[in-house]
Amino acid sequence: MDLNKLADALIPDENIKPLEEYEKLYPERALEKGAQVTRLAPSPTGFMHIGNLYVALANERIAHQSGGVFYLRIEDTDEKRKVEGAVEVIHKSLKYFGVKFDEGADLCGDYGPYYQRQRAEIYHAYAKELIRKGLAYPCFCTEEDLEKTREYQTENKLLPGYYGEYAKCRNLSEAEIYENLKAGKPYVIRLRSQGDVSVKHTFRDEVKGEITVTENNQDVVILKSDGIPTYHFAHAIDDHFMRTTLVIRGEEWLSSLPIHIELFKVLGFRLPKYGHNCSIQKIDGETRRKLSKRKDPEASLNYYREQGYHPEAVRTYMMTLLNSNFEEWLLKFPDKPLDEFKYSIGKMGKSGALFDIVKLNDISKTYMAKLSETEAYDFFKAWADEFGSETQRAYFADKEYLCKVLALCMGVGGKKRRKDFICAKQAVEFVSYFFDETFSPEYAYRFDNATVKKILNDFVSVYDHADDCSAWFEKVKAVASANGFATDMKAYKANPENYPGNVSDIAEMLRVATTGLTNTPDLWTIMQILGKDRTLVRLQTAINAL
Ligand code: GLU
Repeated sequence: MDLNKLADALIPDENIKPLEEYEKLYPERALEKGAQVTRLAPSPTGFMHIGNLYVALANERIAHQSGGVFYLRIEDTDEKRKVEGAVEVIHKSLKYFGVKFDEGADLCGDYGPYYQRQRAEIYHAYAKELIRKGLAYPCFCTEEDLEKTREYQTENKLLPGYYGEYAKCRNLSEAEIYENLKAGKPYVIRLRSQGDVSVKHTFRDEVKGEITVTENNQDVVILKSDGIPTYHFAHAIDDHFMRTTLVIRGEEWLSSLPIHIELFKVLGFRLPKYGHNCSIQKIDGETRRKLSKRKDPEASLNYYREQGYHPEAVRTYMMTLLNSNFEEWLLKFPDKPLDEFKYSIGKMGKSGALFDIVKLNDISKTYMAKLSETEAYDFFKAWADEFGSETQRAYFADKEYLCKVLALCMGVGGKKRRKDFICAKQAVEFVSYFFDETFSPEYAYRFDNATVKKILNDFVSVYDHADDCSAWFEKVKAVASANGFATDMKAYKANPENYPGNVSDIAEMLRVATTGLTNTPDLWTIMQILGKDRTLVRLQTAINAL
């Protein structure tokens, strides 16, 4: 069979250059020894999973720690999954978490184009080369033909797939091929596998360690009927010509590794190193399962931006998932920049990484407690500008007022910082009682209305906004005593039955009346921040509601 003629007939692409040209166009990168070239290769589906951040961070760390390159390639070969604006979403969401690419789609770089759809010429050049060498062939099987083979294989408990004697088009004669072409039958290009499934090799996976890999014997599709490559083929070509040295990707690709090993071999390319990282899982009742795009809002990277998690906090949490020794490092160096931690691919979890939102929230609280009130103001404002309601955005108009609120709520300047804030959304909701527009208290007192009314009235009659904290508290105590409540906690503890309550119950009534809440930061400071008029209006409103 004239394979050159066949290659031209099957792939009539006029743009193809001689293969050496591609090697020259994309030369080995001039990097220091040990520098790794890694990449993120998402499909533009418009959805960014937390797993994308996990794998992006692993790849980014390895590249940048080793003085290498980290780039973005868009795997847009599946037209059906493509969504308008998806690449922008990828850039935007990763940028938020501080993941920086050195080159790639919509960025500069000498190894592009970084969109697979723009690389047809290279795929075609190499598919042709394989056809010329007899290592690839056209397959005219229809979906029905394939289904029949599948059924037969299932019935007879045979290994499924397109291989050996089940690869119907593998041995078509020249005449049969041209007849099919003449009849205009659609075709795909398949690899003519040289592998043998009875042969097993030991393979070193950078994450999983030593694994056994069975040789591939599947005549996998390399070019689809529209001339677009499959993931397998594009992966081999792209990672070769973009000079990737290490592929860290999801473990769902582990089962395809034998195909990739064979493809690199038949193409004459050096195999990169691989690390297959585990999926992110969660505990759901009795079971442990993958974080699901459909069921779990926290599976989406958008979720963290919408909730206003601080990117540093999420990054910190992701590092605890990525490397088992990270937490120990963090305890030792809580204030060092995260990038000083020496990330190691060998310390990635080999099975599932368990996602724990409670732990993320704890890390977030600790992170928030490191911010100054103005840093918190800026961060929350950025969140509110994008995701907040109009009323919430109005909170930021008086920076001085809000900064005082934040300083109090965060315990800035106190002995110990408060850890009430998890994320911007929750924090902005938390401070809502400082703003009349959103102050809608549900007063819940633990004493009868008459008692509360009397106490609130007594307090209003002695309230002086100029009182300092201790003078203010003396007045609270005086109101307590006048109403039979204990002010001496020792005496109260010895005989609680002698009193209706103690001074802290009085403070609670005042707190509920002023803020609608039973638990707030220091009440005197709250009243100071609210100002005399607003404090008195609130107390009076509370009295009127009784
Ligand atoms: N496009 C593939 C995915 O999104 C990339 C896998 C890889 O990193 O090679 O799963």
